[in-house]
Amino acid sequence: MSSSDSQKFRALQTDQEQDVDLKPLPASDSEWRARLTPAEFDVLRRAGTERPFTGKFVDTDDEGIYRCAACGNQLFESDAKFHSGCGWPSFTTALPGATIEIEDYSHGMFRTEVRCARCQSHLGHIFNDGPREAGGMRYCMNSVALDFEKPKR
Ligand SMILES: [Zn+2]
Repeated sequence: MSSSDSQKFRALQTDQEQDVDLKPLPASDSEWRARLTPAEFDVLRRAGTERPFTGKFVDTDDEGIYRCAACGNQLFESDAKFHSGCGWPSFTTALPGATIEIEDYSHGMFRTEVRCARCQSHLGHIFNDGPREAGGMRYCMNSVALDFEKPKR
């Protein structure tokens, strides 16, 4: 196991409620509005979608962990990120238990919505056109719904 691997596994083994980067959960919409930027609020709390190829994480390759921008929950490892060409940051898998999936019939389509399992904020959608060798799933996320953290040294 390389040193970067052991960093990663230590991150995964973090007891979620001991995670100092977790933020307390607001109880109301007005509290969410006060914490989030208007763009974050629209995506995370109103299930909006940022325009493709505009998000800050579309092309990033850095090693680390992507957290929920609303509550700090650890969601994705950089190892699961891939270049899908769709215009949004894409991942083949989420961290175990980090996200929940909800059937979404909005906009005349059937899609599967992905939310943060801790704060229920909207993150994006999941599609089954991801890389076959990595399981075939594509977590299509909004950059504004994510915070990036480099491995702690
Ligand atoms: Zn969250």
